[in-house]
Amino acid sequence: MTLSLVPPTDPILRTPCASVTDIATQVEPYWRDMLALMKQHNGAGLAAPQVGLGYRFFVTGPEGAELADVVINPIITWHGTWRSEAEEGCLSFPGQRRVIARWHNIVVEYTTLDGRTVKAALRGSTSRLFQHEFCHLDGICIVPPDDTQARHERLANAITKEFS
Ligand SMILES: [Zn+2]
Repeated sequence: MTLSLVPPTDPILRTPCASVTDIATQVEPYWRDMLALMKQHNGAGLAAPQVGLGYRFFVTGPEGAELADVVINPIITWHGTWRSEAEEGCLSFPGQRRVIARWHNIVVEYTTLDGRTVKAALRGSTSRLFQHEFCHLDGICIVPPDDTQARHERLANAITKEFS
Protein backbone atom coordinates (compact mmCIF):
# COMPACT_ATOMS: atom_id res chain seq x y z
CA MET A 1 0.00 0.00 0.00
CA THR A 2 1.40 3.36 -1.04
CA LEU A 3 -1.08 5.66 0.66
CA SER A 4 -1.29 6.52 4.34
CA LEU A 5 -3.40 8.77 6.55
CA VAL A 6 -2.08 12.32 6.84
CA PRO A 7 -1.58 13.56 10.43
CA PRO A 8 -4.48 15.42 12.12
CA THR A 9 -2.57 18.70 11.80
CA ASP A 10 -2.09 18.47 8.01
CA PRO A 11 -3.58 21.62 6.40
CA ILE A 12 -5.03 19.54 3.55
CA LEU A 13 -7.72 18.37 6.02
CA ARG A 14 -8.88 22.02 6.25
CA THR A 15 -8.65 22.83 2.54
CA PRO A 16 -11.55 22.56 0.06
CA CYS A 17 -10.80 20.00 -2.64
CA ALA A 18 -10.88 20.51 -6.40
CA SER A 19 -13.46 18.74 -8.57
CA VAL A 20 -12.35 15.53 -10.23
CA THR A 21 -11.85 16.28 -13.93
CA ASP A 22 -10.01 13.11 -14.96
CA ILE A 23 -10.98 9.88 -13.19
CA ALA A 24 -8.15 7.92 -14.84
CA THR A 25 -5.37 9.99 -13.27
CA GLN A 26 -7.03 11.55 -10.19
CA VAL A 27 -9.06 8.59 -8.82
CA GLU A 28 -8.18 5.30 -10.52
CA PRO A 29 -4.60 5.00 -9.16
CA TYR A 30 -5.73 5.54 -5.55
CA TRP A 31 -9.18 4.18 -4.76
CA ARG A 32 -8.14 0.56 -4.14
CA ASP A 33 -5.49 1.62 -1.63
CA MET A 34 -8.01 3.92 0.02
CA LEU A 35 -10.52 1.09 0.41
CA ALA A 36 -7.80 -1.17 1.84
CA LEU A 37 -6.68 1.54 4.26
CA MET A 38 -10.27 2.18 5.33
CA LYS A 39 -10.85 -1.50 6.04
CA GLN A 40 -7.52 -1.84 7.84
CA HIS A 41 -8.67 0.91 10.24
CA ASN A 42 -12.25 -0.44 10.46
CA GLY A 43 -13.60 2.77 8.96
CA ALA A 44 -16.96 3.28 7.26
CA GLY A 45 -15.64 5.82 4.78
CA LEU A 46 -12.47 7.60 3.73
CA ALA A 47 -12.20 10.87 1.82
CA ALA A 48 -9.37 11.80 -0.54
CA PRO A 49 -7.88 14.63 1.59
CA GLN A 50 -7.43 12.18 4.49
CA VAL A 51 -4.71 10.51 2.42
CA GLY A 52 -3.32 13.77 1.05
CA LEU A 53 -5.26 13.93 -2.22
CA GLY A 54 -7.01 17.23 -2.93
CA TYR A 55 -9.83 15.91 -5.12
CA ARG A 56 -13.55 15.56 -4.50
CA PHE A 57 -14.09 11.85 -4.00
CA PHE A 58 -14.45 9.34 -1.20
CA VAL A 59 -14.73 5.60 -0.70
CA THR A 60 -17.25 3.77 1.49
CA GLY A 61 -17.61 0.32 2.98
CA PRO A 62 -20.53 -1.90 3.96
CA GLU A 63 -22.22 0.89 5.96
CA GLY A 64 -22.59 2.76 2.70
CA ALA A 65 -23.88 -0.26 0.82
CA GLU A 66 -26.50 1.88 -0.91
CA LEU A 67 -23.64 3.90 -2.38
CA ALA A 68 -21.00 2.99 -4.93
CA ASP A 69 -17.63 1.99 -3.41
CA VAL A 70 -16.19 5.16 -4.94
CA VAL A 71 -18.22 8.38 -4.87
CA ILE A 72 -16.90 11.10 -7.18
CA ASN A 73 -17.85 14.82 -7.27
CA PRO A 74 -20.77 14.36 -4.85
CA ILE A 75 -23.43 17.01 -4.44
CA ILE A 76 -26.43 17.20 -2.11
CA THR A 77 -29.39 18.35 -4.20
CA TRP A 78 -32.05 18.28 -1.49
CA HIS A 79 -32.38 17.82 2.26
CA GLY A 80 -35.30 17.56 4.63
CA THR A 81 -35.87 19.83 7.59
CA TRP A 82 -34.97 17.36 10.33
CA ARG A 83 -31.42 17.15 11.59
CA SER A 84 -30.61 14.37 14.04
CA GLU A 85 -27.62 14.26 16.36
CA ALA A 86 -25.33 11.27 16.79
CA GLU A 87 -21.79 10.55 17.84
CA GLU A 88 -19.23 10.16 15.05
CA GLY A 89 -15.61 9.14 14.85
CA CYS A 90 -13.08 9.91 12.11
CA LEU A 91 -10.01 8.00 10.95
CA SER A 92 -8.11 11.30 10.85
CA PHE A 93 -8.71 11.87 14.59
CA PRO A 94 -8.19 8.52 16.31
CA GLY A 95 -9.92 8.13 19.64
CA GLN A 96 -12.01 11.28 19.31
CA ARG A 97 -15.81 11.11 19.15
CA ARG A 98 -18.09 14.10 18.57
CA VAL A 99 -21.85 14.60 18.52
CA ILE A 100 -22.74 16.08 15.13
CA ALA A 101 -26.10 17.21 13.72
CA ARG A 102 -26.78 15.95 10.20
CA TRP A 103 -29.77 16.03 7.85
CA HIS A 104 -31.73 12.80 8.26
CA ASN A 105 -32.95 12.72 4.65
CA ILE A 106 -30.94 13.89 1.66
CA VAL A 107 -30.93 13.44 -2.09
CA VAL A 108 -27.52 13.23 -3.69
CA GLU A 109 -25.84 13.00 -7.06
CA TYR A 110 -22.39 11.72 -7.82
CA THR A 111 -20.26 10.13 -10.52
CA THR A 112 -19.12 6.51 -10.43
CA LEU A 113 -15.75 5.08 -11.50
CA ASP A 114 -17.14 4.29 -14.95
CA GLY A 115 -18.37 7.85 -15.39
CA ARG A 116 -22.09 7.29 -14.76
CA THR A 117 -24.15 9.86 -12.87
CA VAL A 118 -26.08 8.34 -9.97
CA LYS A 119 -28.95 9.94 -8.08
CA ALA A 120 -29.90 8.49 -4.70
CA ALA A 121 -32.16 9.26 -1.77
CA LEU A 122 -30.36 8.54 1.50
CA ARG A 123 -31.56 8.44 5.08
CA GLY A 124 -30.29 7.73 8.55
CA SER A 125 -26.81 6.30 8.94
CA THR A 126 -26.07 6.31 5.20
CA SER A 127 -27.12 9.96 4.98
CA ARG A 128 -24.87 10.69 7.96
CA LEU A 129 -21.92 8.85 6.41
CA PHE A 130 -22.36 10.71 3.11
CA GLN A 131 -22.46 14.10 4.88
CA HIS A 132 -19.39 13.26 6.98
CA GLU A 133 -17.34 12.43 3.88
CA PHE A 134 -18.88 15.30 1.89
CA CYS A 135 -17.76 17.76 4.59
CA HIS A 136 -14.18 16.41 4.35
CA LEU A 137 -14.18 17.50 0.69
CA ASP A 138 -14.92 21.05 1.85
CA GLY A 139 -12.15 20.95 4.45
CA ILE A 140 -14.55 20.50 7.36
CA CYS A 141 -13.85 17.83 9.97
CA ILE A 142 -15.79 16.71 13.04
CA VAL A 143 -12.89 18.02 15.13
CA PRO A 144 -12.73 21.72 14.30
CA PRO A 145 -9.52 23.73 14.62
CA ASP A 146 -11.37 25.85 17.16
CA ASP A 147 -13.76 23.75 19.18
CA THR A 148 -16.60 26.25 19.42
CA GLN A 149 -20.39 26.25 19.56
CA ALA A 150 -20.39 27.36 15.92
CA ARG A 151 -19.42 23.87 14.77
CA HIS A 152 -22.93 22.80 13.79
CA GLU A 153 -23.55 26.01 11.89
CA ARG A 154 -20.31 25.60 9.95
CA LEU A 155 -21.29 22.06 9.02
CA ALA A 156 -24.81 23.15 8.03
CA ASN A 157 -23.48 26.06 5.99
CA ALA A 158 -21.07 23.80 4.18
CA ILE A 159 -23.99 21.75 2.97
CA THR A 160 -26.56 24.44 2.26
CA LYS A 161 -24.12 26.55 0.25
CA GLU A 162 -24.37 23.86 -2.41
CA PHE A 163 -27.91 25.08 -3.06
CA SER A 164 -27.20 28.79 -3.48
ZN1 LIG B 1 -13.73 11.62 8.77
